[in-house]
Amino acid sequence: MYHDPDVQSVDEQFRYLRKHYNIIDLNDFINSIEGDKLLPPKSLVITFDDGHLGNYKLLPIVSQLQVPITIFLCSGIVNTNRHYWFLDSENSKNKDLLKSLPNKERLRRLADEGFDQEKEYAQRQSLSSKEIDQMATWVNFQSHTVYHPCLDRCTHSESTYEITQSKVDLEQKYKLRINAIAYPNGDYSQREIEIVKGAGYRCALTVAPGYNTLDSNPYTLRRLSTNDTANQDEFVVRAAGLWGLIQSLRSSGTKKEERKHEHRDNIRTAAAAG
Ligand SMILES: [Zn+2]
Repeated sequence: MYHDPDVQSVDEQFRYLRKHYNIIDLNDFINSIEGDKLLPPKSLVITFDDGHLGNYKLLPIVSQLQVPITIFLCSGIVNTNRHYWFLDSENSKNKDLLKSLPNKERLRRLADEGFDQEKEYAQRQSLSSKEIDQMATWVNFQSHTVYHPCLDRCTHSESTYEITQSKVDLEQKYKLRINAIAYPNGDYSQREIEIVKGAGYRCALTVAPGYNTLDSNPYTLRRLSTNDTANQDEFVVRAAGLWGLIQSLRSSGTKKEERKHEHRDNIRTAAAAG
């Protein structure tokens, strides 16, 4: 899972991935889990969330290397000068707080900061219709809701609108076939799974780290995230799905170190007391 990486990193990373994995289109994976169960070994699906303007710069790489990718678009932001709320909100601490609030409360607080999800700003942040047309030969465009809310913080009707309307709009306005959705921030509940199924999506992607198999639940697919600025070594580890493991080993190593110090301090205290 990428968001808005720079061109040079993607060029290096795609060349690496092409050598070590069989890169397949998301549709091939959906067809496999639904029926034909045929996948090459070490199959890999590459996805980009949000539909950032910067993704257009990847077109020469994608077409030259013939690497299939999927970009998840917000139908209410794409081809407009509307902004992504999380890019305009002030700091990351504030963003975490906003993500925890009921949807209307999040929008009200953003309005206090001067943000409005329907406002057209001077600068564009998302892909245009023309760019989507040019990329469509190489890119599988899918849904990332209308305005990128935290779906599990929405009311039932807000969540239904975000999930169903984005599919309708992307299909009608851009002549796309929408069969997949990526939950914004990976936030979903059982309710979202039901709405997604009811809207006619064939799969949904989370941000829970891990691999998928042919027996995975198609509505809670796992992904491995790559930091948009990852260096090549870090990227290789992330792509192999080992990043989480190494982080947990490192933190348990740190904890062990801390425990050692604690133990030593206790002994010292005991010796001083004794
Ligand atoms: Zn997103």
